[in-house]
Amino acid sequence: MLTTAPRGTKDIMPADVKAWRYLEETMRRICAQYGYKEIRTPVFEHTELFLRGIGETTDVVEKEMYTFNDRGNRSITLRPENTASAVRAYIEHKLYAEPAPAKLFYIGPMFRYDRPQAGRYRQFHQFGVEALGVQGPNIDAEIILLAVQILQSLGLKDLKLKINSVGCPKCRPLHREKLQEFFKPHFAELCKDCQSRYDRNPLRLLDCKNPHCQELGTGAPSLEECLCDECKDHFAGLKQLLTAAGIEYEVDHNLVRGLDYYTKTAFEIQYQPLGAQSAVCGGGRYDGLIEEVGGPATPGIGFAMGMERVLLALESQNLLPDSEEFMDVFAVCPKQEYFPAVFKAVIELRRAGLKAEFDFQGRSMKAQMKQANKVNARHVLIFGEDEFARGQVVLRNMSTSEQKEIAITDIITNLQTEV
Ligand code: ATP
Ligand code: MG
Repeated sequence: MLTTAPRGTKDIMPADVKAWRYLEETMRRICAQYGYKEIRTPVFEHTELFLRGIGETTDVVEKEMYTFNDRGNRSITLRPENTASAVRAYIEHKLYAEPAPAKLFYIGPMFRYDRPQAGRYRQFHQFGVEALGVQGPNIDAEIILLAVQILQSLGLKDLKLKINSVGCPKCRPLHREKLQEFFKPHFAELCKDCQSRYDRNPLRLLDCKNPHCQELGTGAPSLEECLCDECKDHFAGLKQLLTAAGIEYEVDHNLVRGLDYYTKTAFEIQYQPLGAQSAVCGGGRYDGLIEEVGGPATPGIGFAMGMERVLLALESQNLLPDSEEFMDVFAVCPKQEYFPAVFKAVIELRRAGLKAEFDFQGRSMKAQMKQANKVNARHVLIFGEDEFARGQVVLRNMSTSEQKEIAITDIITNLQTEV
């Protein structure tokens, strides 16, 4: 136990970090193009924030939160998602007083007591975006395009964008009644969770992962028939913009998203080969959230993308770039008494911006040359006995095997012209 990471967590080892950085850099670059600014919120918050901001009838709040009392007896929760925290920060720092929209993005670890399997972990990472302060479908379209552009620029294929409208507090009550009527004859067959949600939030019945509940849900009254004019217009506007941008989408009336605060637009991007973990990105509008969390009534929309799932998709399509690791110089020191000179040369090379390494353990020449190969050194500096006595060293180009003698005082100038 001491030597294994906790269930559902994993180390990201140096060999994997390259792929993560590639992904993060792509996200940051495209966010900058769209004018979204990075925010970094604490990894834990007051539990109350998530109870309010995610909703008490959601899977996340009911079963997945890492909640504990701290030493001051406050209830603290490791963030299971970042939207509630971003909204809390928006209110705390009065971003609503600045011209709308506030455009934020984040990248970081989230924590959920999920059942670990491929693409589902207890500590996982999300990239997400929030646009706060504007109504209307234009920003919804922009946000969806941002998600799509990131995935497309990574080269991913076979992704499916699904959209829906989950209505608003004006039109949902009618749908709610219709849903309850529809499920009533089958109440006894529903899973326990769905039975308890039947009264509290029947829309969530359409989101249940239990196959029998899903079967019972086929043919359920669609929210579309109940949408008020405002929600209908909003949804039509969004579809028009997506079509104008040449983005393919599918309307899925069963797409309800797990969180209570969603209004109007809901969307998900799926990569089917990931099976039960096919949701790569999920998001939507949350016009009720900011007020719910204690801020002024403000509309908002956002999404979160599962970084591990994007990486799995990239891996399965062979899209991870393999950039070669290398060192500019490896300094070989055959005699311990030369070490101060080697050390000085390496430090100077590093100060000049070059990637330089040396041996720490006074190993044999052969072992040091082997190490130089292992770190993929482009050049080797050999502090040979005869040369050293003359104030010279041997500079060897590892790809051409050419070598020349140079003055110790000229190492930097020589290497700067070579690399
Ligand atoms: P799922 O239905 O797969 O549990 P979710 O509806 O709980 O997803 P969201 O809360 O919308 O997911 O989170 C947004 C994204 O974060 C998901 O689309 C997914 O890519 C990723 N994600 C969610 N939970 C996990 C997890 N436990 N491990 C890895 N990624 C996750
Ligand atoms: Mg989940």
